[in-house]
Amino acid sequence: MKNFYLQKLQDLQERGLLRQRKTVSGPQGPHLQVDGQTLLAFASNDYLGLANHPDLVRAAHAALDRHGLGAGASALISGHSESVAQLEQALASWLGQERALHFSTGYMANLGAIPALIGEDAAVFSDALNHACLIDGIRLARPASLTVYPHGDLAQLEAGLCQSAASEKWIITDGVFSMDGDIAPLAELVSLAERHDARILVDDAHGFGVLGDEGRGTLSHLGVSSPRVIYMATLGKAAGVFGAFIAASAEVIEWLLQRARTYIFTTGTPPVLAAACLASLERIRQDGFRRDRLKQLGQQLQEGTRGLPWKLLPSQTAIHPLIVGDNFTVTRLAQSLQQQGLWVPAIRPPTVPPGSSRLRISLSASHEPAHVERLLAALRSLA
Ligand SMILES: *Cc1c(COP(=O)(O)O)cnc(C)c1O
Repeated sequence: MKNFYLQKLQDLQERGLLRQRKTVSGPQGPHLQVDGQTLLAFASNDYLGLANHPDLVRAAHAALDRHGLGAGASALISGHSESVAQLEQALASWLGQERALHFSTGYMANLGAIPALIGEDAAVFSDALNHACLIDGIRLARPASLTVYPHGDLAQLEAGLCQSAASEKWIITDGVFSMDGDIAPLAELVSLAERHDARILVDDAHGFGVLGDEGRGTLSHLGVSSPRVIYMATLGKAAGVFGAFIAASAEVIEWLLQRARTYIFTTGTPPVLAAACLASLERIRQDGFRRDRLKQLGQQLQEGTRGLPWKLLPSQTAIHPLIVGDNFTVTRLAQSLQQQGLWVPAIRPPTVPPGSSRLRISLSASHEPAHVERLLAALRSLA
């Protein structure tokens, strides 16, 4: 018994799958202090460079002084704060939805919302590259049938929808895929949903703030709007803070409030976080230059990686994966980059399919062209 987990850990090590944390001190930015070393990082989801923005920090300080720290209870008991209520209203009206419900994290939002929304008789169609928390939410919902369609494969999805006799059908997808950086074909998914009377849950963790008119996300980017869509996004990535929300019709939100267990049975969000998110929303809306910067840096990276032995996946988002393949090679590459003062995370299975280990280069509006040039030079030196 004693060596049970030791053996399992050793097995992970032998397969090149043992993961280690680095400890960061100081605020987010292009350069991070890591275990006494300064690293130029392409490793965060702080896509707009807002995680340490003075407006957000100031809003948080003010909220701390006014509201203190803890929410005191779960939202339905006494822990629903004025700050969270304001944030929900601001998000809903900005996104053109009737209501929004705030969750402590994106993981919790999907884990709670999916079982609440989906009936036991439902047929669920889920993209093969969906985020872990969508997969876990579906597991918890235990729908009558689950079809995992190959990534972005509309023909297979349509065939599955045609064959299904279920009275309730759901398509579940990331808006922007977290490890590939590509965008879901939401216009086509909505038209399939219309033809087959299905509903769609879109997890826009990586599109919110980055894509669309004023940063309204992937639906806005693609010009898609449909009452069939339930929109979920997180506030810990481009928004630079923490938390998540679902925006939808008033009836959907009211139902989630009554039934999403990860909303009901957890402590309410500290008001300070909601206040910082409100300040962040203002920056997201107004700072178009951050999205422009992100696009320019992305083009620079895409052009600069041509000729390398590894393939950079095409991307219009902040996520640019460099496909390396082998678990050990990708780890060695990440280590060599670190020796040159760069931090690019190696992503291995089970986060990505076997054989597709990669460097996940994520860009931020806080990066400068010279930072990208430094990364490119380092990659060339290791090729
Ligand atoms: C990060 C992420 C989540 C989880 O959000 P958290 O707020 O970090 O828990 C959910 N879905 C996707 C697609 C993500 O990338």
